[in-house]
Amino acid sequence: MASPISFDVLVVGSGASGLAAAVSAERAGARVAVATKGSLQACNSAKAQGGIQAAFGDDDSPDLHAEDVWQSSHETANRALVTVLTSEAPSAIHWLEELGVEFTRENGGYRLARCGGASRKRLLQVGDRTGHAITKALREAWEAGSGTTLAGSPLATLEQRANGWRATCGEHVVDAATVVLGAGGRCFKEAAERGELSTNHPNATGEVTRIALDLGAEARDLDALQYHPNGGAWPENMQGYSIPETTRAYGAVLLNADGEEFTESLAPRDVVSQAIFDEVGKGKGVETPDGRPAVYLDTTRISQDDAEISLPYMLRRYRAAGIDPLREPILTYPVLHYQNGGLVIDEHAETTLDGLFACGEIAGGTHGRNRMMGNSLLECCVFGRRAGLAAARN
Ligand SMILES: Cc1cc2nc3c(=O)[nH]c(=O)nc-3n(C[C@H](O)[C@H](O)[C@H](O)COP(=O)(O)OP(=O)(O)OC[C@H]3O[C@@H](n4cnc5c(N)ncnc54)[C@H](O)[C@@H]3O)c2cc1C
Repeated sequence: MASPISFDVLVVGSGASGLAAAVSAERAGARVAVATKGSLQACNSAKAQGGIQAAFGDDDSPDLHAEDVWQSSHETANRALVTVLTSEAPSAIHWLEELGVEFTRENGGYRLARCGGASRKRLLQVGDRTGHAITKALREAWEAGSGTTLAGSPLATLEQRANGWRATCGEHVVDAATVVLGAGGRCFKEAAERGELSTNHPNATGEVTRIALDLGAEARDLDALQYHPNGGAWPENMQGYSIPETTRAYGAVLLNADGEEFTESLAPRDVVSQAIFDEVGKGKGVETPDGRPAVYLDTTRISQDDAEISLPYMLRRYRAAGIDPLREPILTYPVLHYQNGGLVIDEHAETTLDGLFACGEIAGGTHGRNRMMGNSLLECCVFGRRAGLAAARN
């Protein structure tokens, strides 16, 4: 066995949550290591396009944001966590700006979009590469510090000892006073097992949750997996692509085979996904050339200006595949996207085990059984920061 290397804090995973925790723990004075399965860049967070929620509108407030989360969760979220999420959202945005994220602006303020389930325009964006911009800034902040990166080092075992934790991460044996789990969800693996499409990165396989459960950590809502209402259904190379929900915020609507609108396009995600399943079930869907079910997303209703400012990446991808979404509707169908539930945490992101923290998609409670779009990147930043700070002080 390799000789153990020692740190104050071990962070597992290098998505937005893990990186936010690592930066925050290091800035609090801890000696920190990040152990991650692949490269530092490999994660779901970098794939996020749509945006991140925070109440900045004149007609908005953290309380209204919290109420929208509560309603979208069908009153299943943990209200204490929701209050932390929405009240710290503006400061998390300013923290990201200090790290170099440049949110799209207009008329002297942020360009805000309304997302499914929201009562106000609240979604900040960096074009349609928001997750890429956030993870890049966090990664650069992490790499500018003196922390240790253990890439290609998946967590395989974790054991509680008298004075902290011992982990095996790839070839490394790591001792740490505290551990932050930021290893994401399991939708890639789940979709593969069901023979379905997923928006997720191949590293989203969920074994770290299993390790924590085996140690006795509590979890909630693990059965509540979320479908993204608008997976790409055609052309073939766009299958599983998550069409940004901002297409609907900027005017796109869902149409059945007869060209009729069959649902409120900006309802919460589970409602929109179910409406699509039902419409197809009634025989009112369309079929892709390879025989998959689909409905139309009429993206021709998006203005050229909105598309160019807020959807340039989506436009490029479809146009490269031979379809111009501003000239013809695109084919869409729900795809497996997000693990709503996860490890139970408190307001400082500590699990039910002392000295073991969890943040981001691996944690449960903040969204209850149904997450609103734009609140996951937010959760990663708000609870990642909190986890890092608490783990450093523990
Ligand atoms: C295509 C797409 C679009 C999205 N769009 C949005 C959006 O617009 N707004 C929004 O708020 N949310 C969005 N989401 C959801 C959001 O991006 C993710 O839920 C969130 O970023 C998860 O962050 P995370 O840090 O918890 O996990 P991830 O970003 O998934 O990172 C997990 C990390 O853990 C590592 N890991 C996994 N297993 C192990 C192991 N055994 N040992 C060590 N490391 C491990 C992975 O390699 C990775 O580095 C989107 C998700 C996808 C997939």
